[in-house]
Amino acid sequence: MRIVIIGSGIAGAGTAWQLARRGAEVVVVDADLAGRATAAGAGIVSPWNSRTLDGEELAFHAEGAAYYRTLVEDLAAEGAGETSFAIVGGLVVSPDETWLREFHERALARARRWPDAGEVTLLDPAGAAERMPLLAPELGAVHIAGGGRVDGRTLRETFLAAAAARGARLLDGAAELEVRSGRVAGVRVAGDVVEADGVVLAAGAWTAPLAAALGVPLPVEPQRGQISHFGVGEPGTASSDSASPDTASPDTAAWPVVSPAGSGHYMLAFPDSRVVAGATRETGAGFDHRVTAEGQREVLTQALTVAPGLADATLLETRVGFRPVTPDGRPVIGALETHPEVTVLTGFGAGGLTIGPYAASLAAAAALGERPGIPALLRPERFGGAG
Ligand SMILES: Cc1cc2nc3c(=O)[nH]c(=O)nc-3n(C[C@H](O)[C@H](O)[C@H](O)COP(=O)(O)OP(=O)(O)OC[C@H]3O[C@@H](n4cnc5c(N)ncnc54)[C@H](O)[C@@H]3O)c2cc1C
Repeated sequence: MRIVIIGSGIAGAGTAWQLARRGAEVVVVDADLAGRATAAGAGIVSPWNSRTLDGEELAFHAEGAAYYRTLVEDLAAEGAGETSFAIVGGLVVSPDETWLREFHERALARARRWPDAGEVTLLDPAGAAERMPLLAPELGAVHIAGGGRVDGRTLRETFLAAAAARGARLLDGAAELEVRSGRVAGVRVAGDVVEADGVVLAAGAWTAPLAAALGVPLPVEPQRGQISHFGVGEPGTASSDSASPDTASPDTAAWPVVSPAGSGHYMLAFPDSRVVAGATRETGAGFDHRVTAEGQREVLTQALTVAPGLADATLLETRVGFRPVTPDGRPVIGALETHPEVTVLTGFGAGGLTIGPYAASLAAAAALGERPGIPALLRPERFGGAG
């Protein structure tokens, strides 16, 4: 069975690996578009930190975070490369003790339901600063030990390499659906047709026009996110180059994910003395792939309010990505009712690095004609039309 996947972000790359390990013949096509969300995503995998997620959506995100534990083992078992996933803990921070005590209760309830959240502890400002030294001195925290983070670029590469090791082919170019006699027969790339038994639409914020070609409404839109990377420690030492070790740079590898109360912004760290802070959430900016003055100001203002200790850090780069968002804010996963040969996997919004790998395992099963128990609230037909 040959399945072509359009898009190789976390959605497409994860699906490619899942399908390849299940014996399908896989072809992945990617146009390498500017603003790929996976290349910009911060990488927080700690839904228990969330101040806004609730109900079934939180449950799905928790499932996604829990799945990382299995994923890391499965990839290691087949000798795949680095996943970059690490459990570093999460800090939900606030200057308001009353708010923190209430959130502490919520987090304890979450940890009882989802044990992967780990131990939950209320910390005073000194305790919070011990975990994350750059924090503003008035911030206390709720610490959630099971919080994790991942580098989306690294995990995507590892998925693609593991899929390729199992025979998947990777093609460069923009894909269109090849429809014959009312059925999707494959995809067209640079004038050539790749025949397929099934097609997976995993084109992120660019998925809507592909579905529209089938008369299926899939209202996925780009939400621009601008996110900045900082080097902490001595200038120029934010490098993983072990040939030039520098003791002046702090070891950021175990720094937790920081989520301030009352804000959609956040901060996290990676091993190379790199701190990442973001991000804007700009709906209506279209596919405008620029770092804007206002976007940069918003990111810097929020970051320095929460972590004044970043003031002397080096601003290394600002990335821009388009989150694929739906009107109800939920992902879209599953085979189309009118075109069962087409499976959709998109609409991950701000949580794609958390839920992407798990959702990819569901999409792969759907593409193989199985019924993997996708929650009804995530299915494509909820948008009506011919979905
Ligand atoms: C600033 C920012 C911060 C984020 N932080 C987090 C976070 O901390 N935690 C978290 O869980 N999530 C986070 N996210 C969300 C997450 O990054 C996204 O939800 C996820 O990466 C979306 O993956 P995707 O594969 O659906 O889309 P993408 O990564 O955008 O991939 C889509 C791919 O499709 C290709 N493509 C499109 N059209 C075609 C075509 N016609 N033919 C061929 N190829 C095509 C593109 O080139 C692209 O490579 C963040 C996102 C942003 C932007």
